[in-house]
Amino acid sequence: MVQRLEELKKEYKLKFDYHTHTIYSRVGPYFHGKGRVIDNARAAAKRGLASLAITDHGPSDFYGLNLKKIPQIRREIAAAMHAFPKLKVYLGVEADIVDTPNGLDVSPEDFALFDFVNAGYHYVPKCHMLHNFVAFRAPWPKKLKEKLRFQNTERIIKALKSNDIKILTHPGDKAFIDEHAVAKACEETGTMVEINARHKHPDVRDLQIYKNYDIDFVISSDAHRPKHVGRYAESLALALEAGIDPARIVNIIKK
Ligand SMILES: [Zn+2]
Ligand SMILES: [Zn+2]
Repeated sequence: MVQRLEELKKEYKLKFDYHTHTIYSRVGPYFHGKGRVIDNARAAAKRGLASLAITDHGPSDFYGLNLKKIPQIRREIAAAMHAFPKLKVYLGVEADIVDTPNGLDVSPEDFALFDFVNAGYHYVPKCHMLHNFVAFRAPWPKKLKEKLRFQNTERIIKALKSNDIKILTHPGDKAFIDEHAVAKACEETGTMVEINARHKHPDVRDLQIYKNYDIDFVISSDAHRPKHVGRYAESLALALEAGIDPARIVNIIKK
């Protein structure tokens, strides 16, 4: 496997990484993301990426971003681009899919704070989705489980259709969903599907479903430490195993 990943790195490179976390994903004194903006930028520049996005967790997450910090983050991003002039750094967010009118913990008015918004499902207080552990390991009737799967799917579709979301992050992780319905919604809304090797989903089976829809894929490191910024070989291996043409992965280029 290690050798396979090295071969992939020789053949392909990553153009950008639009899903990375920093110390702005934190709860009290605990830093969920370990690096500063400048650390992620340094790692991205070292790996030859053309661009990078800082996408800390949405404000309702346990480790959620404090929106009041945004001017400070913008200043740090400007300093990072000054230090690494070849690198473009965007400010995004990994919004949570929750039960709000627009289905996210970032309101339509707050979209303007960011260059773009990614969204994904996490275990957050405002979310009533029933995730894998509760819904699928419990000895509940199959009919009930199917109902929960349907509800989870509906919530994702609502978020996709109510907002301009750039990337749906790690779909299917933490909550069982109907991949066909989610793929169709991504197709209709032009949302990119993330291949994220940090999580269990999407896995090869999920990707084999997604690939039948007219959607673009994107690889993200979902780095919580600077050393993981720009990681892509594991995700690329997953995509290839699922039979996805690398030309459909928007940030992969053949060397
Ligand atoms: Zn996530
Ligand atoms: Zn993330």
